[in-house]
Amino acid sequence: MPRMLKKPIGTNRNSSFGGGRQTRKKRMGTPGARERTQCRFCRNSIKYIDYKDVSTLQKLLTNRGKIYSRKRSGNCAGCQRKAKKAIKRARYIAILPYTT
Ligand SMILES: [Zn+2]
Repeated sequence: MPRMLKKPIGTNRNSSFGGGRQTRKKRMGTPGARERTQCRFCRNSIKYIDYKDVSTLQKLLTNRGKIYSRKRSGNCAGCQRKAKKAIKRARYIAILPYTT
């Protein structure tokens, strides 16, 4: 009897969670998949990412204020690190949000 009760609950939960995650991953994966281009900062040969340049930094944030992953933003490792520092400085002086 306990087996009979446990199984349907578990499967229901798993299937609903898994389905949601899979669809999300598919949606997230396709727009970021660009192989041809370099990262946006290397392409424009920007060596220093200015923390006061809100319009540039805001493109690297979600609308909730989180920083996009490297895969999502398309930045190279070095530029992502610079962008991270710039965003955190900008947050500290309150020109970018920590969260919304
Ligand atoms: Zn780069």
